[in-house]
Amino acid sequence: MLPDALRRRVQDMMPQVLRDLENLIRYPSISFPGFPAAPMEEMATETMDLLRRYGLDDVHLIDIPGGYPAVYGEIPAAPGAPVVLCYAHYDVQPARKEGWTGDPWSPEYRGGRLHGRGAADDKAGILMIAASLSLLQKNAGVRVKVFIEGGEEGGPDLSPFIAEHPELFSCNLFLIDDMGSLMAGEPAISTSLRGEAACRVTVSTLQQGVHSGTFGGAAPDALMALIHILSNLLDAEGNPAVSGLTSFPEDTDAYPVELFRRTAGVLDGVDLWGMGPISSRLWCQPSVNVIGIDAPPTAGATNALIPKASAIVSLRIPPGADPDHELNLLMTHLRKHTPWHVRVDVHRLRASPGFICPTEGPFFAAACRCLESAYGKPAREIGSGGTIPLLNALRKIAPQAEFILWGCEDQALSHIHGEDESVDTGEVERMILAQSLLLQTIGEGKIPIKK
Ligand SMILES: [Zn+2]
Repeated sequence: MLPDALRRRVQDMMPQVLRDLENLIRYPSISFPGFPAAPMEEMATETMDLLRRYGLDDVHLIDIPGGYPAVYGEIPAAPGAPVVLCYAHYDVQPARKEGWTGDPWSPEYRGGRLHGRGAADDKAGILMIAASLSLLQKNAGVRVKVFIEGGEEGGPDLSPFIAEHPELFSCNLFLIDDMGSLMAGEPAISTSLRGEAACRVTVSTLQQGVHSGTFGGAAPDALMALIHILSNLLDAEGNPAVSGLTSFPEDTDAYPVELFRRTAGVLDGVDLWGMGPISSRLWCQPSVNVIGIDAPPTAGATNALIPKASAIVSLRIPPGADPDHELNLLMTHLRKHTPWHVRVDVHRLRASPGFICPTEGPFFAAACRCLESAYGKPAREIGSGGTIPLLNALRKIAPQAEFILWGCEDQALSHIHGEDESVDTGEVERMILAQSLLLQTIGEGKIPIKK
């Protein structure tokens, strides 16, 4: 099909695509422990049914040990045809109603954007897959595998499952439909992701809580000691102060400061942290944050010294750095900056590497051409500060395969994981077109395959 004919087909199907995306948003499919299983199970079935309605006959649920089932489907092709695996996830982040303008589970249109939890991350990815496959002609010359899982946001590590089932995941190209651009209308492919590591630091000073008037001034307070330790994690400019951390600063600036301030919602007059271009700080350098702290809430606070306090410290690691090594540096730093001989326990929680996506392959070049055709402007390479641990497990299964990390999520307004998540409906249309063009191009057999 010629690109213009395909463009019209996508246009025609958009009302149905958006109705289906609205429907998916209504499922509070949260995979985190403690949330009900029923919406996850219903969402898995609905994802499978949706793919069938879009013409993928061979689709079923597969059990994932310790987690929710994944939706798996295939479009066959003759032996020797290129194999593409399309990835998305049907689980979403939790959403408390406070902070949202509307109900997170009731889809709503505002200014060309569809709002609701999962609208962008990653239920739009499910529609990208369903719609682009429905536009693929019969005997298209490309074998397609579809893997839509239910544990990206809060499930077990899928790596062992992937390692045990190479036949499900082996392919020539992974299409990871769970990313996006800096801004809607600006086509982009993500070519690097940072890794993440975390530890828990616990400080103990007293056998029990005691009166802050009777004992304060001499008896050490665990919370104050913890704050002291945490305050040593950053220097005066907001750079991580942990010595020896790997950093690959770059000069190229792909992320305008003003766009970043707006996107992140940084308040007027408040300084940014770190040094160098924004894209370098986010994509090529480490960052350190406290993501949780156990301390008495201000409501009901009493005049007592705190005997024990703990915090979780998260470290983002540049792609290519060794996460265990970086985490050890952080843990050593926390122990070294412990004052007053207080008891401190630093406990490792997790460490996953980042990901670097090579850009020299023929599929990457083809994906850039398809994006340019769909958007009418050239695509740019961007990094991502986030982490998808699964990618390294997939790479082990198919070391020769290329990766294309793209999707409908724009960093400027999508607010993924945050309040008022939304997706630009034009972006959904353009990404369906880009992915359809790419699958069609691959099926034409013009892209050489690395064996
Ligand atoms: Zn996602």
